[in-house]
Amino acid sequence: MWRASVLSIFPEMFPGPLGLSLAGKALAAGAWSLHVVDIRNFAADKHRTVDDTPAGGGPGMVMKADVLARAIDAVPQDDRPHMLMSPRGATLTQARVEALATGPGVILVCGRFEGVDERVIAARSLEEVSVGDYVLSGGEIAAMALIDACVRLLPGVMGAAASGAEESFSDNLLEYPQYTRPQVFEGRPIPDVLLSGDHAKIAAWRRAEAERLTKERRPDLWVSRDGKVTKPAR
Ligand code: SAH
Repeated sequence: MWRASVLSIFPEMFPGPLGLSLAGKALAAGAWSLHVVDIRNFAADKHRTVDDTPAGGGPGMVMKADVLARAIDAVPQDDRPHMLMSPRGATLTQARVEALATGPGVILVCGRFEGVDERVIAARSLEEVSVGDYVLSGGEIAAMALIDACVRLLPGVMGAAASGAEESFSDNLLEYPQYTRPQVFEGRPIPDVLLSGDHAKIAAWRRAEAERLTKERRPDLWVSRDGKVTKPAR
């Protein structure tokens, strides 16, 4: 079973949206498990302090290395990667998500305040992972995004197994446009080719549209295809 452990000072945020829909059904069905650790339980004082003022001054608070290290050490040690949700990390990609989904699971540390003491990142070899170039107020929503992206790829979770194979970022392409009934919406018809029943023509149209959209919107992805259909290195 794919296992997610999440360390947070807001454990009540979980499962949250991960308890609904696809991820929630898969959780109930035992396709994956969620273990939430309340970092505050590892504080040493009666106020259950998890943060302190930054060394060298400056605004905000920093999560304490000792408390966080004890919380991490309480998670059963296995071969899952230890990751810290962090805007300084490498941005999560679909290729990484695919690699994580085929592994044993993840251990995710959620930061809060101004972040965490640098020494716990080094001492516990935490891999910093970002969900994009913007700053959230905490790692929990980032952790949910990572888990959601992985869980939908687990065997048997997605309704039609095929629906993962052609979507955005497979082959470094964005997905082609999708349509469903009615045939005409506010004067806009579904493209004729999709109603033609000619599967080869439909596939060619979808491929051309995927390429057009990728060139237009994500020249970075288009260039990284390097003329051939390859997945980025994992
Ligand atoms: N002062 C920090 C930001 C702290 S935000 C800085 O400038 O880098 C508080 C916490 O939210 C972080 O410790 C991290 O766990 C989480 N977080 C914020 N933005 C994130 C992002 N883009 N990806 C992943 N986690 C993020």
